Amino acid sequence: MGLIDIERVRQETAGVSRVVHLNNAGAALAPRPVVDAVVGHLRLEEQIGGYEAASAKADQIEHTYDALARLVGAGPDDIAVVENATRAWDMAFYSLPWAEGDRILTARAEYASNAIAFLQTARRHGVQVEAVPDDPHGQLDVEALRAMIDERVKLIAITHVPTQSGLVNPAAEIGKVAREAGIVYLLDACQSVGQMPVDVGEIGCDLLTATGRKFLRAPRGTGFLYCSPRIREQLEPPFLDLHAATWTSADSYQVRSDARRFENWETYYAGKIGLGTAVDYALDLGLDAIEKRVTSLAATLRARLRTLPGVQVHDRGVRQCGIVTFTIEGHESQDIANALRARGINVSVSIADYARWDFEPRSLTSVVRASVHYYNTETEIDQLVSALPAPGGSSNRNSARI
Ligand SMILES: *Cc1c(COP(=O)(O)O)cnc(C)c1O
Repeated sequence: MGLIDIERVRQETAGVSRVVHLNNAGAALAPRPVVDAVVGHLRLEEQIGGYEAASAKADQIEHTYDALARLVGAGPDDIAVVENATRAWDMAFYSLPWAEGDRILTARAEYASNAIAFLQTARRHGVQVEAVPDDPHGQLDVEALRAMIDERVKLIAITHVPTQSGLVNPAAEIGKVAREAGIVYLLDACQSVGQMPVDVGEIGCDLLTATGRKFLRAPRGTGFLYCSPRIREQLEPPFLDLHAATWTSADSYQVRSDARRFENWETYYAGKIGLGTAVDYALDLGLDAIEKRVTSLAATLRARLRTLPGVQVHDRGVRQCGIVTFTIEGHESQDIANALRARGINVSVSIADYARWDFEPRSLTSVVRASVHYYNTETEIDQLVSALPAPGGSSNRNSARI
């Protein structure tokens, strides 16, 4: 595991010849071996039938569990493969039993879907949802978290890398607090898995969720859940089917003991094979090497942006990653993204609806998000920087100052 051969990975990434893809936190460009694996399986289904293709490729399908287990430092029985990170997170979260007065501790930078689930659970069960304050660096304040712990706290649920910022929350320090207090710890690692080493043992989480299409470069419609054997059999999933459980007698059923209790029977086999292939691809390059490259490209981009008049970089945190967020005075974020798209540069926009607890206290309404991957280059960063509009002179004179 040394440096990444950028020429090779770009040769294996068809899209780089067409676009400057800086939307890897949205969906990364999949490498050729991943696309070949997906298409190959669809072709086999076409030729011999879907059930028959699944049984012919049973080993490859099983391999996806081994690959994911290796990726996060777990056992294959601790992994459930589902259709996306949100469903993985929901299956974990909605398995937890709640009583009135229970407390959920989360972070300010929490993902919108998670926040919505907390608010629904608060409404249904009378639990209390509290966002731990940020420290002066803008990451979750671990000491504040420690001070908030009492016997009513039933869950610590945080987002490792927020969708809307380059911040990396101190997941392992949070894990120590959770372990000491014996509180279930659910980590949304959707944006961290695939761009940095993520090890469930080092972090000390009980549950971890991620998606395929982002930094892992897997197909869309794939995701997974890690569930620790420590708590697995205490968690009865909110939905059960004949894959997650067995109908053992006319009036009984038994939930399976491995993490596949969180799956359902019908699944996207081609995608599952593609996900395993993407994980192999990442492991082959090495997550340390990937993080090094991604972090350095992102740091270069932030440094370049900071030299531009009227540009404000919004990433916080002691440790930062491949997500770079900024605004330009006098321009709407969406207008900037649209103008870049027209020039073949893909970025995205994060709006307050995705991150209210984070954006509202900072008076942010939206930011442009440029997210780099290891296959991006300094030249592409130059292309982005030169394509940005000068401050002011907005196409929309009513644009909010953000
Ligand atoms: C994208 C994202 C999700 C949701 O992932 P899906 O695969 O779209 O369900 C969850 N959490 C964070 C932090 C994300 O960025």
